Amino acid sequence: MKRSRKVRILATLGPASSDEVMIRKLYEAGADVFRINMSHADHPLMRTLVERIRSVEKAVSRPIGILADLQGPKLRVGKFADGAVELEVGQTFIFDDNPEPGNAKRVELPHPEILRSVKKGDRLLIDDGRLQLKAVKTTGTAIEAEVVAGTRISDRKGVSLPDTDLPVGALTDKDRRDLDAVLQAGVDWIALSFIQRPEDLAEVRKVARGRAALMSKIEKPQAVARLAEIIELSDALMVARGDLGVEMPIEAVPGIQKQLTRAARRAGKPVVVATQMLESMISAPAPTRAEVSDVATAVFEGADAIMLSAESAAGDYPVEAVGMMNAIAEQVEKDPTYAGIVHAQRAEPEATGADAISLAARQIAETLKLSAIVCYTSSGTTGLRAARERPQVPIIALSPVVETARRLSLVWGTHCVVTPDATDLDDMVDRACRIAFSEGFCRPGDRIIVTAGVPLRTPGATNMLRIAYIGSDGLSGI
Ligand code: PGA
Ligand code: MN
Repeated sequence: MKRSRKVRILATLGPASSDEVMIRKLYEAGADVFRINMSHADHPLMRTLVERIRSVEKAVSRPIGILADLQGPKLRVGKFADGAVELEVGQTFIFDDNPEPGNAKRVELPHPEILRSVKKGDRLLIDDGRLQLKAVKTTGTAIEAEVVAGTRISDRKGVSLPDTDLPVGALTDKDRRDLDAVLQAGVDWIALSFIQRPEDLAEVRKVARGRAALMSKIEKPQAVARLAEIIELSDALMVARGDLGVEMPIEAVPGIQKQLTRAARRAGKPVVVATQMLESMISAPAPTRAEVSDVATAVFEGADAIMLSAESAAGDYPVEAVGMMNAIAEQVEKDPTYAGIVHAQRAEPEATGADAISLAARQIAETLKLSAIVCYTSSGTTGLRAARERPQVPIIALSPVVETARRLSLVWGTHCVVTPDATDLDDMVDRACRIAFSEGFCRPGDRIIVTAGVPLRTPGATNMLRIAYIGSDGLSGI
């Protein structure tokens, strides 16, 4: 099966979408990569989901990417004697280290390092900002805060501290255990939540040892401030608009989304736009006009992937939500304005052979109206550089490494096929033609462009570009 759109769809699995039949339906409706949210999945469930996705992958004979999303240092208050309390705007409320159940005057904040770090004047946003407080006095073991807006707080609600530099790394003990488990289960991507600084990636990188690629979720102002360094050390980015819209003024999020997608495209790293894209489809079979427009915006920006969260994980219409995303993406990419908008943000090539050849391949393919750019890519790097050019013609990435093909399933416009390395130049051209034909990208007599590194099997040495005709039987190139 080949997709008739460039942007990829990332669907979160959850209670509404965990059996194999449903996962297959989501794939068929358009999901290219599945996300397992480790905030909600325990290890046995995670392993079961991985097995089911792999089983669907086998059934459809297409590489499917799996993203495991680590919870990260999500801060939560403790519990209340009555489950919840109502507060009044203007009253003071205390967060402390006392594990006894909370009341209308105080509650535990079971993170001693946070109690030490909050300064007078810092904001505390509870429950995605529904309750807002401002610290008026801090003692190191307690924060006295004034209620600014909202009134309700209940058990284990999340706490965001947009003004506070948190002295925590990106990994909690739970994340470390989850990381080991997801690596063992063989996921392709790991998403890191709430990273603040480039150093936050180092520990994960060390543990992962190349077994999975790393996606940095940008959801804190501290991460936005150090974006360039974070991109450098990441394999991909997620514009995590949910928490970003709590930690930063919500009206700043669209501009930040543009900055992040542009920066990631410049770096040639995949970027995912996430959260609330079709939110109303959690409980309705059709989205709002504004949601359709939001999905379209991400597609016009040239994002690599667009993501569904609760829509596919816990909503009433998971298949319809994926189908709707697919329909919007296909329509946008057919729009006469699309190519111009996406290409306006195209990045200049870097001074490397791979970039020069990717640029030339795109120009030749577009000038001669070729059917596809076929690139041999073992690690995936060449595939990424080809995608960075955002060519109008499809990219077919050929890799002998199934893990590479799975990772690349997140990447804009890239159709990956696992195939052994070519034995010589003729085989390379034949194989490229045969696969482009059998995967439905061209007909006999059409032409494709092939890029590779010669001698074969030299990593990172793309140095060859060849135009080839599909033979009359579709079996060989000329
Ligand atoms: P989450 O991340 O769904 O894990 O919170 C995405 C976001 O914050 O937008
Ligand atoms: Mn988040």
